[in-house]
Amino acid sequence: MKVKFLDLNWQYLSIKNEIDIAIKNVLNNSIFVGGKCVSDFEETFAKYQHSKYCISVANGTDALEIAIESLNLPSGSEIIVPANTFISTAEAVTRNGHKVIFADISPNNYILDTSLLEHYITPNVKAIIAVHLYGHPCEMDKILSLAQKYNLYVIEDCAQAHGAEFKNYRVGSIGHIAAFSFYPGKNLGAYGDAGAIITNDEVLNRKCRLISNHGRIDKYNHIIEGRNSRLDTIQASILNVKLKHLDSWIERRNQIAKKYISCLKDLPHITLPVISDNIRHSFHLFVIRTTRRDSLQKYLSSLDIETGIHYPKSLPKLEAFSYLNISKKEFIANEMDSKILSLPIGEHMTEDMVDYVIDSLLKFK
Ligand SMILES: *Cc1c(COP(=O)(O)O)cnc(C)c1O
Repeated sequence: MKVKFLDLNWQYLSIKNEIDIAIKNVLNNSIFVGGKCVSDFEETFAKYQHSKYCISVANGTDALEIAIESLNLPSGSEIIVPANTFISTAEAVTRNGHKVIFADISPNNYILDTSLLEHYITPNVKAIIAVHLYGHPCEMDKILSLAQKYNLYVIEDCAQAHGAEFKNYRVGSIGHIAAFSFYPGKNLGAYGDAGAIITNDEVLNRKCRLISNHGRIDKYNHIIEGRNSRLDTIQASILNVKLKHLDSWIERRNQIAKKYISCLKDLPHITLPVISDNIRHSFHLFVIRTTRRDSLQKYLSSLDIETGIHYPKSLPKLEAFSYLNISKKEFIANEMDSKILSLPIGEHMTEDMVDYVIDSLLKFK
């Protein structure tokens, strides 16, 4: 049996009628940037994330970059970024003229280890980026209380956590500002690049809107020099359709995760993720850990089961960050990257597929 890691074609076919109609409507109206689809999406997505404002942008990296720019931090500020995340989180800091400070992650669930966080805070640190990695929300209460103590901004990177909740609060509505990606493979994905910023702060909303659309308040009336980072109308029409299905997809991901956990918990050579009990996980990824990662991945692949590695190199190890001259031994994240393996999870998986993955793992010698 073939088990794909991600099956966007399956997903498209499951909602083909709605999607085809939505795209056709955009073509018939021939409004390709902005318009009602985009404003509808912003309104619905803000509501979905329990936030006041949503500013749609061209991709998740731009969302992070523009969100940071809107905070107007002194140039050269330091911003805390987890050592295990996608590179965008750090790029957005550097591109704004700030300095990345890597913070270590917890080996239980791979998100920021809040027990270590205070140790990274210097007078130059002005913000923390909380990445809800794999869909597991960060411990936002602890992060917020540290932020209050040291007067820091909290930026949430929600690229993997649409719909996830910490203590009944939707991610992205908890810190000062948040970024989302709708890259096709995310839990809520467009058919190309797309992203959004959300915030409850009116001033930040206005700034992000100005930055992402040439600083304009009217067609040719520009009050600052901004840039072009907008959501295409076709992508917005697709996201409007998919957002209606997102909760059922997250539900399915949680069912699969629950089964993985209950059936694999006694395997001595596999460490399962520890899921906090006060959260709603979005299970963008289901990541296990084993010292025999490479042979396990090969074995699963020989049985037609696709897996992934997120991420093969922790950020401090990447050549891109060699200029920071940080000691690589410092981070737990640096040991994890040779052991982690992402199992297939998603709405495309039938119960037979889930059982097949579990049986295969149980038979691994
Ligand atoms: C995908 C992702 C991004 C970047 O989003 P793009 O839309 O690909 O630019 C940022 N942070 C994390 C954690 C991501 O997974």
